[in-house]
Amino acid sequence: MHEWTEKKEMALKPIKTITMAKSREKESKLKSSVLFECNEEGCINKFLKYNNLVHHLATGKHVRKPAKHLLKDTAIQLYKSKLERMGNLEMISLMLETSNIEDTIKSKEKFSTGLREGWALSKERKNARLSVKQTQFLLEKFNEGVRTFVRWKPEVLVTKMHELKVNGKFNFTASEFLMASPIRSFFSREKAKRQKFQLNENDTVDQENEFFQDDLALEEISDREALRQECEKALDEEEQTENSVQLTRAVKHNVSTYDISDKRRSSFSKRKL
Ligand SMILES: [Zn+2]
Repeated sequence: MHEWTEKKEMALKPIKTITMAKSREKESKLKSSVLFECNEEGCINKFLKYNNLVHHLATGKHVRKPAKHLLKDTAIQLYKSKLERMGNLEMISLMLETSNIEDTIKSKEKFSTGLREGWALSKERKNARLSVKQTQFLLEKFNEGVRTFVRWKPEVLVTKMHELKVNGKFNFTASEFLMASPIRSFFSREKAKRQKFQLNENDTVDQENEFFQDDLALEEISDREALRQECEKALDEEEQTENSVQLTRAVKHNVSTYDISDKRRSSFSKRKL
């Protein structure tokens, strides 16, 4: 009650300034600019004359304008009330249901999301078997390598798979594309298989496999070295052809470019089967 009267006094302050203002000029200026606002919460009435305000307060005919709410605010409020209501409802229902063990189990089932256990774990890596089409393609490339003594690089074959067209249609769908590693292991297996078949007396397959891996590593190193040298040579001779620019870029960014597959086919340390 005290608070209200205090507020009222504060609201009525402009009157004092008006009544105390002696000059008529000032009074008229104040009259035009200062309005007496009703201090009732929500009321939008304003009055030019103090008497009218008093009358308004006495009659209590306040004019209320529906407050405007931002959609965001409304949404937040709705969400909050919903959460509160839902929380209460569930608490009650849980309390009711936990009185019985069977019901508790049922309620647990009710809240289950239908996800299997371990759904958030990363997917198990499957050693997917190669399809007939993939195997055929890789075998073809492997045999080509054996015939020409120039082995296909797995990275190059990855793009080859992407680009390969048969009768104007792409031969492999996106799901059939292979990464470099399965191609490499396929080649490794294939080579081991053939070596085992041919030299089943001397070398063990394991040793051969090791040699093969070393081979791959050596080849990679020598390839990069060759590429680097080629670039330097190209730069020295200032043959700024498109090709050399591409090569430099490739080395600078250490990217294995597929545009230069022919150059990367290396015959380094190719051993006869
Ligand atoms: Zn009012």
